[in-house]
Amino acid sequence: MTGVDTARMVSNLQRLIRQPSVSATGEGIGECARLVSEILEENGIHSRLLTVPGHAPVVYGHLSGRGGGTILFYNHYDVQPAEPLDLWEHPPFGGVVEDGRVYGRGATDDKGEIVSRIEAVRALSEAGELLCDVKFVIEGEEENGSRGIHAYLERYGDIMSCDGIVWEFGYVDERARPIIGLGMKGLMFIEMTARGPGRDLHSGAAPLVQNPAWKLVGALSTLAGDDGRIMIPEWYAEAQPFSETDMEAIQRMPYDVGAVKEDLGIERFVREQDALQAKEDLAKVATCNIAGIWSGYSGDGTKTVLPARASAKLDMRLVPGMEPRMQWSRFRDHLSRNGYGDIETELLHGEPGIRTSPDHPFVRAVRDAADAAYGTHVLSVTYPETGPIWHFSTKLKAPCVLAGGTDVHARLHAPDEYARIDYMEKTAKMIMWLLSHPSG
Ligand SMILES: [Zn+2]
Repeated sequence: MTGVDTARMVSNLQRLIRQPSVSATGEGIGECARLVSEILEENGIHSRLLTVPGHAPVVYGHLSGRGGGTILFYNHYDVQPAEPLDLWEHPPFGGVVEDGRVYGRGATDDKGEIVSRIEAVRALSEAGELLCDVKFVIEGEEENGSRGIHAYLERYGDIMSCDGIVWEFGYVDERARPIIGLGMKGLMFIEMTARGPGRDLHSGAAPLVQNPAWKLVGALSTLAGDDGRIMIPEWYAEAQPFSETDMEAIQRMPYDVGAVKEDLGIERFVREQDALQAKEDLAKVATCNIAGIWSGYSGDGTKTVLPARASAKLDMRLVPGMEPRMQWSRFRDHLSRNGYGDIETELLHGEPGIRTSPDHPFVRAVRDAADAAYGTHVLSVTYPETGPIWHFSTKLKAPCVLAGGTDVHARLHAPDEYARIDYMEKTAKMIMWLLSHPSG
């Protein structure tokens, strides 16, 4: 098979890293979209910028193969903010190459994955070996909640039709095994505020005035137990059960309880799970995490205050089958039934999860491609993260798989993020295999 041009791939990555594209602030977004489009064109892939007013442009790429189905790559060109800058040892927008790694914000999330895929398409198409039609959908708001992606799918869904979707990235574990992901969890992000007196009061008023912090704590304690188990009735009513092949995949997945505990800095799991139970729970348990909680005085020393308000932010991971709007109404009803209907609540973000069957022919093709390039693979029925994967898979009626070359320790969203060049090469080879074999 034709070879991967590593120097070309690395240089494309450096160009992309050196063009900041921070969706949180808008810095460099338009410039980066144009640069991605330019790189696609230079590598023989037709490209255009799609637009929806009020949103960052989506870079669309397309190249026809000899006829073997259509594969769509979803990626994003935006990055997380580089702050805190003083913790970087390599400049965040420098693209420095050292010890087989390329350093910079977005090096692996998601610019490294973009260039590996582009390189795979270029190499195959120049050799006349591109079998599948290829589509790229590279958005610019992923790190900021993918707010526009729904509108893009509505407007441009027709040109994005495909037989299989390869999601933005895939992890590679400590033993260089690519982790092929069959889905992602959903998410609800909620803010709650309990209000008390019209202003902060001297706490001497406590015999007469209800403290909103107590009220908030009371409401929170009805949502989940100390072990995190959600107590809202019917919460799992629509949860998609595991199939036999899902369970087989879970059983086969390597999992080292001791190493995980050490990595997390804990002595015991919350429900004392063994390895199998831990793997199952990671895939099937919906969670109610208190991401932040604040009220009153939290500075040094003492202040006897009865606060006017108390607030909390919750992120609730959903499992496939759960629909955020439905769960939201259960959440609201539950608070009302328990006497907390007057607590202000807002659903800031809702995203369903999804899980593709391990038996799907497209999944088999990706697994074969991973074996061909990496020599092995691990199957994960769900990644713990959340992305707009449900919208794509549902709207385009296509299965979706996560596969790529992101080292599990690549410091995503953190200082000194890096991409491993050997994993980029292997990913390019994996994608080449996928695009040169019919994918069911
Ligand atoms: Zn990403």
